[in-house]
Amino acid sequence: MIRWLLPLAILLTACTRAPEAALPSDAVDSRIATAIAAIKAIDNHAHPVRPTAASEKPDNEYDALPVDSLEAQSDYVRGRLGSPELIAAHQAVFQGDKAAAAKTYGQDYAVKVLDQLNIESMLANRVALGPGLPSPRFLWVPFADALMYPLPTDSVIQNSDQKAFFALEAKLLARYYAESGVAAKPATLDQYLDQVVRATLQRHKQAGAVAEKFEMAYLRPLAIGNPAKSTAEKVYASGVGDYRALQDYIFRFIALECGRLGMAVHFHTGAGGGSYFNVAGSNPMLLEPLFNDPSLRKTNFVMLHGGWPFAREETALLTKPNAYLDFSAQTYMNYPQDVAQNLRAWLEYVPEKVLFATDAYPYAPPGAGWEEVGYVANLSGREALGRALTAMLRDHEITRERASELARMVLRDNARKLYGLK
Ligand SMILES: [Zn+2]
Repeated sequence: MIRWLLPLAILLTACTRAPEAALPSDAVDSRIATAIAAIKAIDNHAHPVRPTAASEKPDNEYDALPVDSLEAQSDYVRGRLGSPELIAAHQAVFQGDKAAAAKTYGQDYAVKVLDQLNIESMLANRVALGPGLPSPRFLWVPFADALMYPLPTDSVIQNSDQKAFFALEAKLLARYYAESGVAAKPATLDQYLDQVVRATLQRHKQAGAVAEKFEMAYLRPLAIGNPAKSTAEKVYASGVGDYRALQDYIFRFIALECGRLGMAVHFHTGAGGGSYFNVAGSNPMLLEPLFNDPSLRKTNFVMLHGGWPFAREETALLTKPNAYLDFSAQTYMNYPQDVAQNLRAWLEYVPEKVLFATDAYPYAPPGAGWEEVGYVANLSGREALGRALTAMLRDHEITRERASELARMVLRDNARKLYGLK
């Protein structure tokens, strides 16, 4: 997800309409728009919230690093107070009465949200799936960052946001230890990799996970080295030395295991939330050495969020056989005309590796719950796709038939192939 803060009190009392709903637009060919609206999508990345009964503890497993304690940032326009699109979305989702819908549908509530968005399957980036998020409507993508930090992290924390993040990672690692039946840090790196890391990945796979997600860009730059095992072992055993080398070694182990188990590796790429976020460290170009490593060619990597603002650079990475991207979050933070330009470049280059996604996230419920964010991102993403295909059609780059085919590929077929879905 892309985090930012969004107080909703004023937003909910405003009553403007979404400007784009009223705009006559010839930017999208009407036949293309109709075709795109009809396609049942596979959403490559989102954070759906599990429906819970009033007597239950509210769900908090929709992210390993939830938004709660970030220092304020200058918010981008589309996510600011009073966003007319969010207000329109709130009115549109269950006719503005999510509470009534939650009562009516109970455990089927989240599935009904997908039905409303014409999304067949949503990849759910969550700590655990849980009841109310049934497969295959929801496909699990758990978090793997915590496994990279078997040593105390005080030395790598650089600001208050990271302090909160690393505390959460420590909690998640403790959970992975417990689930693996390991009571304390194993004596050797090999034992740790086998008893905790491999065991966790296998459990995830057995529970239906289709990929592992890294929120690495929130914790450290995406530049991942290729250290000697002896270096990593020394740091693991002694607790001193180059911690980054140990992290890199563990990451590579995870990436190899994911390839072996048939799970993709998802990376947050591009800008993220919080005023301390290291944008330069989120540049997807930093991943190129991984993609170029012959030993990792059996692992498929997906660069989430289209790497914005490095979307054009990311285009070139699509030629790596195991590199994919989605345009989640761009569909919510950036306007369709902007997203369409990125999409067009990708579709003109390697369209088989481009995946639709929303990053539906409960930023500030009830006005900006995962339902509203998903609603806006779904409309916006489909419009951006329509704009890109229309422009390509009008410039005589593609036929109408090819436009329809590309729409199906981006909205569902590319994801079906990548994850081996029916
Ligand atoms: Zn996300």
